[in-house]
Amino acid sequence: MKSHRLLSLAAVLAPVFSAATLLAWDAPGHRIVNRFALSSLPPDFPDFVRAPAAVERIAFLAGEPDRWSHASDLSLKHYNWPDHYLDIEQLPDAGLDPATLPSFRYEFVAAFAAARVAHADKFPPIDPAKDPDRTRRWPGFLPWTVTESFGKLKTAFSSLKVYRELGTPAEITNAEEDVIYLMGTMGHYVGDMTEPLHTTVQHDGWTGPNPRGYYTGKGFHTWIDSGLIAKAGIRIEDVAPRMTAAQPLSLAPRPDGRDPVFVAMVDFIVEQNKLVEPLYQLDLDHKLGRGDIAVAPEGRALIEQQLAKGGELLGGLWLTAWRSAPPDTYLRSVLIKRQLEKTPAAAPVSK
Ligand SMILES: [Zn+2]
Repeated sequence: MKSHRLLSLAAVLAPVFSAATLLAWDAPGHRIVNRFALSSLPPDFPDFVRAPAAVERIAFLAGEPDRWSHASDLSLKHYNWPDHYLDIEQLPDAGLDPATLPSFRYEFVAAFAAARVAHADKFPPIDPAKDPDRTRRWPGFLPWTVTESFGKLKTAFSSLKVYRELGTPAEITNAEEDVIYLMGTMGHYVGDMTEPLHTTVQHDGWTGPNPRGYYTGKGFHTWIDSGLIAKAGIRIEDVAPRMTAAQPLSLAPRPDGRDPVFVAMVDFIVEQNKLVEPLYQLDLDHKLGRGDIAVAPEGRALIEQQLAKGGELLGGLWLTAWRSAPPDTYLRSVLIKRQLEKTPAAAPVSK
């Protein structure tokens, strides 16, 4: 049996510790959320994810979903772009309650499409010329994406547990590669969940009634994603002390039958959405460093807190997937049958 050990934070982060290392929710930032999540895992999590090549691969894959969302192929963009956000405010506008959203994606799609028609006054017509990928009619699918990603990872662990018992070395390696791939790509979306501007219609400059005079210019999203972090010089070491050990999520069945992971993700997004207006207020108070001013400690603290939060949540999801994955019984029966077929029949007794 492989020895398990808790990889220290320093060991996981060592390859990215440098004075020049800055955090952001662009590709480098997503890498770091994944690395933080790795550092939060307890000793009973499989050790192969701690190999240096696996750590680097998981960090690299944190950027993969953005490579899909920025693709020039409209079919891919149509499918993937809304996976990265949920504009919460569109739900009540459509007469939907975040507390009762269906955890099945296509049930939600049908419900939202119907609700949008029924509340047409809240949804101005979309200019087709500005909507080539046909995504503007959707509020985003981020909590569904994370829940489905969790399910994919859990099934990969279910297979791995059986291959470890009955598979060939090559099959075990392949099953581990699947786990690494799914952990890495899932991490991107969890990172998106902690960026308040991925939870709101106010995602790039304030729109609509604006009595306080929040910033309305485009580029605000990019400033929060990366500009502020670079200007503040936030380093991984600054955020590391905020990290805590991954905590498993409860998978207890719910009376309403909805997926408990989905409900936890929606609840989490609702909480991050509460930071949207404080974020714009910080900007109004000149705390976010936009323009010719320095980033104030309050602005810096908010970003550090969100990055640490992403790592903790992701670690908790990975841990829950590992611990809760049952061995794949179908795969097990196939591999046992294969083993029996390989066993040579007893040689006839010679007279
Ligand atoms: Zn994204």
